Amino acid sequence: MSFLKQINPFESAMKQFDKAASLIKLTESQIAMIKEPRRITEVNLPVRMSDGSIRIFKGFRVQHSIVRGPAKGGIRFHPSVTVDEVKALAFWMTYKCAVVGVPFGGGKGGVMCDPNELTPTELENLSRRYFAEMSDLFGPDSDVPAPDVNTNPQIMCWMFDTYSMHKKQFLPGVITGKPLELGGSEVRSEATALGMVFCVEEATDHLNIDLKKATIAIQGFGNAGSYAAKLLKEHGSKIVAISDISGAYYNSDGIDIDKALETCRKNKTWILTGLEKNTPCEKLEDPGTLLELVVDILIPAALENQITAENAPNVRAKVIAECANGPVTPEADEILEKKNVFIIPDILCNAGGVTVSYLEWVQNRMGYYWSKERINEDLEHIMKKSFDEVLEKSKTYKVDMRIAAFLLAIERVTKAAELRGLYA
Ligand code: GLU
Repeated sequence: MSFLKQINPFESAMKQFDKAASLIKLTESQIAMIKEPRRITEVNLPVRMSDGSIRIFKGFRVQHSIVRGPAKGGIRFHPSVTVDEVKALAFWMTYKCAVVGVPFGGGKGGVMCDPNELTPTELENLSRRYFAEMSDLFGPDSDVPAPDVNTNPQIMCWMFDTYSMHKKQFLPGVITGKPLELGGSEVRSEATALGMVFCVEEATDHLNIDLKKATIAIQGFGNAGSYAAKLLKEHGSKIVAISDISGAYYNSDGIDIDKALETCRKNKTWILTGLEKNTPCEKLEDPGTLLELVVDILIPAALENQITAENAPNVRAKVIAECANGPVTPEADEILEKKNVFIIPDILCNAGGVTVSYLEWVQNRMGYYWSKERINEDLEHIMKKSFDEVLEKSKTYKVDMRIAAFLLAIERVTKAAELRGLYA
């Protein structure tokens, strides 16, 4: 097992919470009400494989909080998903929703599987079985999932259909991230990356960095990373490095992002394999060096625990925009703070996804759909307002942006918990 895997994301999340909570001196009772997850469900999912055999997959759903609204958060399909990872991700959802002021609690789901090894039918059967098994938890007013790592709009459709068939009603509000043809929202696909870009605009303004001339490295080329590259290139920035599980690719003059997208489309699965043959760039010997390049902005858009105490001393970016959840460990945070790296924390930076999920859920409930312009405008307003509120907090309390975001969010969740009181 590698060093990276030994960092427990839930322990990291708890350290972040404790650090922020100590600054506003919460009582033990207040902490007890908002820190630990409310409900953890683990299931074994039998799925018939195409060769006729039956395979069991482990699935999780964690509802961290339902204080400010229904639990909300994606479902991740990954071979190394653990319950502690899902607990951390659900925790971050609670505080992410609170930072941007969308009326949801926090949840997250995970299924231990490698979707690339499954046939389309096996993937559909697994998705439906997971949703059916958890159908008591899910509901437009109780727990609303969405896409996350390795899940997509088609999978959301299968899950929505499974739920609606059980309930004998058309209930698109049970899940977000659906395609436009089936109750999805404009802008949802690019929402995480677009929300990040709005934050980066605010951050570069604040730091006097010219975004048009900025150099950028992006780790991860899935939904968040690929849209991030596309959108920032449209801004005029130079994307000097991108990566995914096939490796990291570098060109100091900038990588042709259209060629990268074309390469992914041509490969059977969405992967950058062979990029160095399609467009001028070199494949880095050690993909980890992408994180240590001299760039203005570094965007981790893959998994947790990528920047640790080991490599943080080598980070040379001025700004880190956390498109992924939990990419920087608490130990790395301290090192980066001393190096004056400006971090836009995940619970703010990647909140564009859940913000447009909220707008999708609202549209599902009224059965009326807004234009792309309207969604773009709402997203920009919410992200920039939230960024400014977090920056203000960081100045008032003289803390970094992560702690400031938690302070703002913890205050909101605590207030809601107090107003609700205890039913007992
Ligand atoms: N999976 C995304 C996240 O981590 C989106 C969650 C949602 O839309 O509910 O924020």
